[in-house]
Amino acid sequence: MKVAVIGGGWAGLAAAVELTAAGVDTTVFEAGRVPGGRARSITVDGRRLDNGQHILLGAYREILEVMRRIGADPEQLFDRRPLQLVDDAGFRMALPKWPVPLNVAWGLLTAHGVGWREKMATARWMQGVKARGFRLAANTTVAEWLDGAGQTGELRRHLWEPLCLAALNIPAGRASAQVFANVLRDSLGSPRREDTDLLLPRVDLGRLLPEPASNWLAEHGATLRFTTRIDALETAPGHVTVAGERFAAAIIATAPQHAGKLLPEMTANYDYEPIATVYLQFGPRFRLPFPLFKQTGKYGQWAVDRGDGLIGCVLSGHGDWEALTDEELAATLQAELPASGPATWQRVIREKRATFSCQPGIPRPACVTSHPRVLLAGDYTWADYPATLEGAVRSGRRAARLLIANRDNSPT
Ligand SMILES: Cc1cc2nc3c(=O)[nH]c(=O)nc-3n(C[C@H](O)[C@H](O)[C@H](O)COP(=O)(O)OP(=O)(O)OC[C@H]3O[C@@H](n4cnc5c(N)ncnc54)[C@H](O)[C@@H]3O)c2cc1C
Repeated sequence: MKVAVIGGGWAGLAAAVELTAAGVDTTVFEAGRVPGGRARSITVDGRRLDNGQHILLGAYREILEVMRRIGADPEQLFDRRPLQLVDDAGFRMALPKWPVPLNVAWGLLTAHGVGWREKMATARWMQGVKARGFRLAANTTVAEWLDGAGQTGELRRHLWEPLCLAALNIPAGRASAQVFANVLRDSLGSPRREDTDLLLPRVDLGRLLPEPASNWLAEHGATLRFTTRIDALETAPGHVTVAGERFAAAIIATAPQHAGKLLPEMTANYDYEPIATVYLQFGPRFRLPFPLFKQTGKYGQWAVDRGDGLIGCVLSGHGDWEALTDEELAATLQAELPASGPATWQRVIREKRATFSCQPGIPRPACVTSHPRVLLAGDYTWADYPATLEGAVRSGRRAARLLIANRDNSPT
């Protein structure tokens, strides 16, 4: 069986690895020059950087499985730490390396900057949410959910709202409560302690998965065609034609705005949220109090310590920051960091359509389409999750597994 995978982001690569491992003759068509899509490495002023700072969780299990399969060792490539949330306003919540749910309970009850009564009320509320299987009654926003639960104090400001923005890339006032609850279910609410960990990459994004996956694919006989944008698919009852070549099936693993051009029935018309990453280079000895540091200034959201004095500040979702020039943004964020001197180098990278806007009730297309030989993958098709690397990888593997399961019925 020959399969075309259109898109070499994390979804497409995960699909291609799954197919190739099952002996399927796979070709990946990628419009860009490098693999990784919205999570790739770029070179700026001779430095290898990420196109945007990414944060991963221990709950991202399928990414870890794919990494192990392609020989990218997660133990080496991630700095795995128990979850800790530290901000510049005195809030600190650190989970100990204890079994669940003791770790979360202890972290909550010993959090700095929150009153005892609020902690107890939150612990009771979390118990209730867990008991109901993290299923919410209706299509509500995170803000409505928290309001209804009386979560209106310090934990909302220092924990829930920042977590929502980090995970869903959209402020609580517009974010889907159910999708946020799904993320909590699989992280803080998981029965596995490791799922609550933070995974801080020790290397750039390209070296985590896209490059080892591309190398593994090439070594195992798959074909990778970079700088090859596919403008149309020709579907016939027995095959799909991509770039003049016949395939038994195709997986469209692009972002939704590109999938719509290849498959007219894919009409999901999303809004998108931007992300800016502001890289600031300080002296090599500059360190943040914790590698993932919450900023509470006017614009700053998260600052990530990349080592050797390089800090990546993240601005997620639409906001006033978009009106600032790169210079203004860098200067403002620099002033909000506890650095003693000015940055010696800076770069702002803006991704205007970083993620689909994860609002309540938005349509999430299925993997299967009306054409039995054309499947969809990509973060937006993994309905349980917001736009995440894990959702992308799971969606790619799901599409590949469906094709593998149907392989015996394919004549080509
Ligand atoms: C700045 C930033 C920060 C983020 N932070 C996080 C984070 O902290 N944690 C997290 O989990 N997620 C984060 N995300 C989201 C995450 O990056 C995405 O969910 C994930 O990368 C999506 O992968 P994908 O394969 O579904 O899509 P994409 O990465 O968009 O891949 C699609 C690929 O298809 C290619 N393509 C498109 N059209 C065609 C065509 N016609 N022919 C051939 N190729 C085509 C594109 O070039 C692209 O390489 C962030 C995203 C951004 C941009």
